[in-house]
Amino acid sequence: MISPLAIELSAGLGATASLALAAGGFAYAALWPASRLFGPALIAPPRPGELALTFDDGPNPLWTPRLLDLLDRRSVRATFFLVGSRAQAEPALVRQILSAGHLIGNHSWSHLNLALASSATIEDQLYRTTQTLAEITGAPPRFFRPPYGARRPATLAIARRLGLTPVLWNAMTSDWKNPSADAIALRLTHKIDSLYRRGLSANIVLHDGSHSNPSADRAPSVAAAAQLIARYQPTHQFVTLDAWA
Ligand SMILES: [Zn+2]
Repeated sequence: MISPLAIELSAGLGATASLALAAGGFAYAALWPASRLFGPALIAPPRPGELALTFDDGPNPLWTPRLLDLLDRRSVRATFFLVGSRAQAEPALVRQILSAGHLIGNHSWSHLNLALASSATIEDQLYRTTQTLAEITGAPPRFFRPPYGARRPATLAIARRLGLTPVLWNAMTSDWKNPSADAIALRLTHKIDSLYRRGLSANIVLHDGSHSNPSADRAPSVAAAAQLIARYQPTHQFVTLDAWA
């Protein structure tokens, strides 16, 4: 058992956060994944060699099944941060993710920026999603990733009150802007290898859906996931986030 606080302290992120404060960075604290000014969130423990593939903004009826096929073929388990309204529209797909052995997390009801929302709205966004996922899967989710990584102290306090551990990331590239699979995989490989050299595991974000455009092309993200699995499976261990909290 590793506490999220221990994880972030061990990652040496306190100094970074202090620098951000000196720079007057409310926006930094609200948006930057490594900032812990607003309270600790799970990022990644000092376990080099462990990788968590996480997929945000689904479920998506076109791309999530392709991803599930890939993960099944390679016997890799991943974490899916689902948008509540999309989950409500695709309950069979949510059950398919779960029955394949993956972990499901809360990614808000409609992908709102929760650094700007009122406390009542934050609670509604998180609670509706947790309730919907619990109705579909039989159990409430344990993990929550704020859309855009955007948060303020109330965001994380409300999440914890609802039994949700806030999660951020340490390996992401703009796969949602639709670069090539090779470009996505290359950028993530650099980040993963750099984290490994620093003694850290990698909490990797890719997108199997889009909060703004359900028909967005996610083929490059799925193909990049295949490249990462092919590259790292011989030497690294793919885990779901519950292995870290
Ligand atoms: Zn998102």
